[in-house]
Parts: sequence; C-alpha cells; structure tokens
Amino acid sequence: MIFTIQSRNEKFLEKIYNKSMKELDDFFGLNWKRNKPKIFLVKDRESINKLRGEKTEEWIVGWVNNSNIFVLDKDTYEKESYHTYSDIEYFRLIKHELAHVFTQVYSGIFNGAIKPDWLWEGVAIYLSDQNKTKNKPNQLKEFLQHYSQDNKNSSVYKESGFAIEFLVKNFGKQKLLRLIKSLKDIDSEEKFAKKFKETYGFELNYKNFQKPSKK
Ligand SMILES: [Zn+2]
Repeated sequence: MIFTIQSRNEKFLEKIYNKSMKELDDFFGLNWKRNKPKIFLVKDRESINKLRGEKTEEWIVGWVNNSNIFVLDKDTYEKESYHTYSDIEYFRLIKHELAHVFTQVYSGIFNGAIKPDWLWEGVAIYLSDQNKTKNKPNQLKEFLQHYSQDNKNSSVYKESGFAIEFLVKNFGKQKLLRLIKSLKDIDSEEKFAKKFKETYGFELNYKNFQKPSKK
C-alpha cells in the first residue's frame, strides 16, 4: 500500500499543535523538546481504513502511531466522518490524540493498548476539554466496564472523562500521574484495582466516584 505525504504549513494547525503541546507538557511535566510528535492528516475514510488495516467506524477520526498522531483532515472532516466540524472541536481532537502520546511516553508503555481503556480515554478526554461537549451523567455507572479496548463500541467516551475529572479535581494530578506511571507493571484488572486502592486509599467502584472520600 502506498501513500502520499506532503508537509503542510497552515497557521491554524501550527497554533493548535503548539498550544496542545504546551498545555500537555505543563500537565505531564515532561519538558519535551526534541523528537516531538508529528501530525499526519489523512484525507479520506478509505485511507484511514488502509492505514489501520481494518474497516473503521464513522466516528473514528484519529489515532496514535508510535509517537505520532493521525487525524482526519479538517477539510474533509464532515464528509468523511459523522462529526460536525468546528475549530474548537478540531483543536480538542488534536489535543486528545496528543494526550495519548504523552500518556504513552509518561507510562513507558509503547507495545499495545494501555489499560484500563477508561483511564486511557478518560485522560485524553479530560485533558482536551472534551467533557465540555458531553452531557455530564448524574451518576457514573458504566465506565468500569471498559477495561480493554473495543474499537467497535464508543461508549467508553461517555463517562471516562468525568471519572478522570473527578479524580483530578478532588485528589490532584500527582496521584493520577503516579497511577499512570505504575501501569507498566500491571497486567490484569485485579492488579489495577489493587494499585488504584493503594494510590487513592479507596476502592475502585462507582460509589466512590460520587463524592470525595473522607477517609
Ligand atoms: Zn482516544
């Protein structure tokens, strides 16, 4: 399979890339200066499918490949996906995918999907402010189902960002960063639950995502 690659100079894209990188670098504290991620803009669904080696759902508009990100081109965004284009939504998409790259680098996990999926997606949704485009559920009751990745099902995107927001707002970012750092040695849902409790001092369940633990 063969693809054309061309560099692109567009002020708006440069701006949202630089802003994303700066804000994410502030959050993760990586001081990332060299070999920074590259953005590849993909023109159409057919190319997305060929690059990914599978027929993708209409809502898939971006992904991570090594330390680079691939996103559907803004110019064909509405034609090739079911999303509505706006500059702010596109900025959040770029920042979401870059947040995944930072999560990989921070955790040191590059071989395969980072689990739990709700944490992987939740961090990217929270950091890219995509919670603002979602209805906040009164009560979280689904996100824990998403331990492993499932590209055919988009329901992980519903609650995960709010779960991470809850953790950061009530317990600060350092605990979350510590948890992300520890993912490298975790290979099961049980071990993750144990590590979560060790980090936060409370069990990983929906009840504890309702209000800050006083323990
Ligand atoms: Zn994502």
